[in-house]
Amino acid sequence: MSKFYLTTPIFYPNARPHLGNVYPTVIADALARYHRLMGESTYFLTGTDENTQKMVDAATKIGTDPIRFLDGTVAEFKKTFTDLSISFDQYIRTTDQEIHWPGATALWQKFVASGDIYKKEYEGLYCVGHEAFITEKDLVDGRCPEHDTVPERLKEENYFFRLSKYADAVRAVIQSGELRILPQERKNEILAFIGRGLEDVSFSRPRRTQWPQGLGVPVPGDETQVMYVWCDALANYITAIGYGRDEALFTTWWPADLHVIGKDLLRFHAAIWPAMLLSAGLPLPKAILAHGLILSGGKKMSKTLGNVIDPVELIETYGSDAVRYYLLRHIPPFSDGDMTVEGFKEAYNGNLANGLGNLVARIMKLAEDNLEAPISPPPAAIPPEWKASFDSFELNRAMDITWEKIQKLDQRITAEEPFKLIKSDPKKGKALIAELVADLYHIVRLLHPVMPGTHEKIKAAILANKKPENLFNRFD
Ligand SMILES: [Zn+2]
Repeated sequence: MSKFYLTTPIFYPNARPHLGNVYPTVIADALARYHRLMGESTYFLTGTDENTQKMVDAATKIGTDPIRFLDGTVAEFKKTFTDLSISFDQYIRTTDQEIHWPGATALWQKFVASGDIYKKEYEGLYCVGHEAFITEKDLVDGRCPEHDTVPERLKEENYFFRLSKYADAVRAVIQSGELRILPQERKNEILAFIGRGLEDVSFSRPRRTQWPQGLGVPVPGDETQVMYVWCDALANYITAIGYGRDEALFTTWWPADLHVIGKDLLRFHAAIWPAMLLSAGLPLPKAILAHGLILSGGKKMSKTLGNVIDPVELIETYGSDAVRYYLLRHIPPFSDGDMTVEGFKEAYNGNLANGLGNLVARIMKLAEDNLEAPISPPPAAIPPEWKASFDSFELNRAMDITWEKIQKLDQRITAEEPFKLIKSDPKKGKALIAELVADLYHIVRLLHPVMPGTHEKIKAAILANKKPENLFNRFD
């Protein structure tokens, strides 16, 4: 039996989940459900990146301790994901000392054994918002332009990872397609980046005094240092599935078949992460899908512009499947997309309330009024072009195919007028209605990965031969 292991990035739980957290998670969930539908053994991982200064700052701001703060925001993440029907198999937390820390420690020891860790003094400008050192030329008027804060000048003794040693090897596996980077544009971008050479990266930092025990994985053999956020965070993809604590489980799932990430995370996942795995002698992931940004009205979402779309509010108003529908169909996974509340409402009314909702209501009303019994479910039929779109991660294309089918079925009703036929020729009329319900059943199957709740509701209606109640209410 073939397996499929896929992951989302792990997110910073320093505030409630935003669209940037929800989008890759919805993509990964649709893919996980698709692979399960195809009968593959599937494992879907998501979680949160918690060993960071950001967490300490966010907790301090509201006068609580970081661990308690994290428990609160992590609960919000889990609730939002559950509300969105995210079918994750595991939610990893990098503060989890049983699940995450043994593997992170074991991985570090592999780097040491490969001669890839050394100590070096580093002095630079540190932006807390970035969780990273930034350079003088990144600043605007002495401030980090992204976070609008003055960076701290820090001098630290850190452990460095010999990333430079792996530049050629990582470039070769990406070039050859052994590690697929999607879309092509991102592949070109990362190849050009690695082609300019890779510098060694800091993999640890001194344990800061305001960090409580329980935050930050200690560097093995040096309690004064904790692993730097990227080393610790990237390791989650293997620690979650047993690396360093359950070898059998680990070899069942690793290597990952797909990491879903945002394009802003490309360098970490397509340069540092493969180098870490090569250093540890581990197989590389098979593919990385780097999705684009979601803009609003052509602009980056920001509090100042007032164009931030809150996914939690959208879910509360329109329901989980409507949000999933919009993100998967109207945001292209391979390039930047655009989302406004007006555009969302228009797509909702046009394609869900009127398109799908209307079609289901028309057919199931005819069925309820005229068929004596539910139809027997027709054999499964997965359109090859729909499957091909899922296999190439073009989820928007897969959904266009589904909606083309919805439209065609709608046109068939208009052309063949079953409500008239049932009166003039009841026998033929019933046969036609049964065919329409069977067609609907096939379409509904294609909704399973993308709109699981809607899929369940319509399927139940078909099997009960009843018109479903309030599938999608119009919003005016
Ligand atoms: Zn910054």
